[in-house]
Amino acid sequence: MFSIENIIRKKIRSLVPYSSARSEFSGEAKIYLDANENSLGSIFNDYNRYPDPMQVELKQAISSLKKIAPGNIFLGNGSDECIDLLYRCFCEPGVDNVIICPPTYGMYQVSAEINDVALKSVPLTPAFRLDEQALIAAIDNRTKLVWICSPNNPTGNTLEKDVILRLLRSFNGIVVVDEAYIDFSTGGSYVTLLEEYPNLVVLQTFSKAWGLAGLRLGMAFASAEIISVMNKVKPPYNINQVTQELVLEAIGRAAEAEKAIGVLIEEREKLRTALDSLEAVVEVYPSDANFLLVKTTDNRGLYDFLLRRGIVVRDRGNVLHCAGCLRITIGTPEENKMIVAAIKNYLTQTV
Ligand SMILES: *Cc1c(COP(=O)(O)O)cnc(C)c1O
Repeated sequence: MFSIENIIRKKIRSLVPYSSARSEFSGEAKIYLDANENSLGSIFNDYNRYPDPMQVELKQAISSLKKIAPGNIFLGNGSDECIDLLYRCFCEPGVDNVIICPPTYGMYQVSAEINDVALKSVPLTPAFRLDEQALIAAIDNRTKLVWICSPNNPTGNTLEKDVILRLLRSFNGIVVVDEAYIDFSTGGSYVTLLEEYPNLVVLQTFSKAWGLAGLRLGMAFASAEIISVMNKVKPPYNINQVTQELVLEAIGRAAEAEKAIGVLIEEREKLRTALDSLEAVVEVYPSDANFLLVKTTDNRGLYDFLLRRGIVVRDRGNVLHCAGCLRITIGTPEENKMIVAAIKNYLTQTV
C-alpha cells in the first residue's frame, strides 16, 4: 500500500519550515512593519512588498480553470522547480533511486544527479513505447519516483495509459506524469485520476501552450498530503509578484490561448505533410506536442546547414533510438514555410 509516511524523507518529515512574515500574518493591516520591506515603496510600480507565499488568488483561478481544489495544487518556479522539489521531499541522497524511461526530458536526470539520487534507466522500445516488464523489474524497495513524460519529449508521442494505470496500482512510490505538452494532445489529462491514485503527481506548465515560458510558472497536482510536503520544502516566496499578477491576467484571457493552441496544432500537421515529402527526411514521427521529431538522412549536416541560414533546431541524433533525428518546434506559419524551403535545398546545397 502507498503511504506518504513510507516515502517522505526522514529529515523532511520532522522539518519545521521557515515561517515568513507573510505567513505569520496574512490578514489586512493599516501599517506593515513586519517584513523589513522598503516602506517608501519601489522605484516603479508597487513591488516593495513580498508576494503571497501561498499564491491564494492565483491558485483559485487555476482551481477553476483545471477543476482541481486549491489544496491539490502546488505552484513552482517553472515545472523544473517541481521536479527538483520532488527529489528533495522524497529521495534520500545516496540511498534512494528513481526510474526514467529514455529518451525523455533531460531534467529528470540532471535533478537526480544534483540531489545525489541514483537513476535507473528503463528505455522505451524503439517504437517509443513503455517496456512494462522491464519497468516492474527495475523497481526495488528504494525506488521512490517513476518519471513518465506524456506526451513525451523529445519523441512527441503519448505513452500507453493502460501500462501507466497498472504501474499506479502496483507501485508503492510516486508516479509522476509530466504533462508539459498536454494541451496539444487529444488524450485526456491524468488530473481526473488524482482521487483514485494517492501516489499520482501530474505536472503541467504555463511555458508551452500558454506561451509564458519567460514568467516561469509550473504546476504540480497531487493529493493534499503530497502538496503539503512540497509546500513545507519550497522557498517561501518562490513565485514572484509579477508572475502571480500576469498569469492571473492570462487565465482571464484563456480563449486567446486556446486559439493559439489550435493554430499550432494545425501548423504541426501542415509541417508534417510538407516535411514528409522532402528527400532529406526519412520519417516524421506522430506528435501530440508542439514539436516534431524528424528522422533525416544526416542530422548533423542538416543541423549545421540550417544554422548557417539562421534557423536553429534541436539535434537529437545522439539520443537513444533517435539516430538521425532533429527535433523541430512548430513555428509561426511563416517560419514553418521557411524551414521547409531551407530543407528542400539541403541535398542540392553548394555551401
Ligand atoms: C519544457 C518542459 C518542462 C519545463 O517546464 P518549465 O515549466 O518551463 O520549467 C517540463 N517538462 C517537460 C517534458 C518539458 O518539455
